[in-house]
Amino acid sequence: RVVEIETFNAEEESSEVTLRPDAWSEYIGQDQIKKNLGVFIEASKKRQEALDHVLFFGPPGLGKTTLALIIANEMQSNIKVTAAPMIEKSGDLAAILTNLEEGDILFIDEIHRLSPAVEEILYSSMEDYRIDIIIGSGPAAQTVKIDLPRFTLIGATTRAGMLSNPLRDRFGMNFRMNFYTPEELAQIVAQASRKLDKEIVHESALEIAKRSRGTPRIALRLLRRVRDFADVADESIITFDTTQYALNELGINSHGFDEMDIKLLNLLVSSKGKPMGLSTIAAALSEDEGTVEDVLEPYLIANGYLERTAKGRRATRATFDVLNMDYVNSDGT
Ligand code: ATP
Repeated sequence: RVVEIETFNAEEESSEVTLRPDAWSEYIGQDQIKKNLGVFIEASKKRQEALDHVLFFGPPGLGKTTLALIIANEMQSNIKVTAAPMIEKSGDLAAILTNLEEGDILFIDEIHRLSPAVEEILYSSMEDYRIDIIIGSGPAAQTVKIDLPRFTLIGATTRAGMLSNPLRDRFGMNFRMNFYTPEELAQIVAQASRKLDKEIVHESALEIAKRSRGTPRIALRLLRRVRDFADVADESIITFDTTQYALNELGINSHGFDEMDIKLLNLLVSSKGKPMGLSTIAAALSEDEGTVEDVLEPYLIANGYLERTAKGRRATRATFDVLNMDYVNSDGT
């Protein structure tokens, strides 16, 4: 069976120019992570050893895949990119691992979704660079030990909490990705704009940044849409007026909230400040609990619009303010 595994060069976001940075200098923000990784990369290069296994966790679109590609670039290593749902059986993983070469990097996205049987194979390969494969079944079954080259596993997950302890413990480094500030996102937008060969005024870049939920992927998507409006209007520069017009036409909220955020916030205030359980919220929004927890909530929590308490999720004073509603506390007063 062919495992869908992309190689570094095939990793493209769209048919157009790639906006993915491939060097540290183009990777904006996440300064602490960059600093630490820089030291680890330099040390392993000096020792001429493969880099220790790395885990990135945090909400989608914050640049985990991009970081993995930059690490590969810095280490001058080949990188194979795949995602856990593509690795269904232990044989799939064995095929990937045995095809690696010394110093290669294997990037597995959504690593929390590996099945226990596949995870089991990963343990010994990460720790001892060896896998045991059982061939046949019943009394005739045989275990074959296969030595692997020294490789680096880079795992990415939106849910560090869902990773089993033995797997988490086998990563030598783990990094939590943070949301980006509007200034950082504005820099990302300006840089991408240059790559798209379209000038953008700083005010516009900042406006897009403020409406992007702290997330580069969203900022870049908005940039492409705003650029469409500028192109149609035959403007060689993306002006502030066009940006505002485009963002309003696209229905992008001035706080960066999307439709789902607004639904969730309205739901929370409707309970008059009383905490609401995750399952109730998920049912009301027709979303699965994982999406609510990993995609919707982190940005709202980071900005003080939602509180997680032992009894459930609760609106804050800021939630009422942002919805232009009078604050009501949990007694309903
Ligand atoms: P997922 O886990 O959902 O795959 P991700 O966290 O791996 O998401 P990426 O695909 O790496 O996110 O990033 C999304 C886009 O944002 C990429 O196209 C990349 O160009 C851009 N990007 C992300 N982080 C940065 C950054 N720090 N500087 C510049 N561009 C960035």
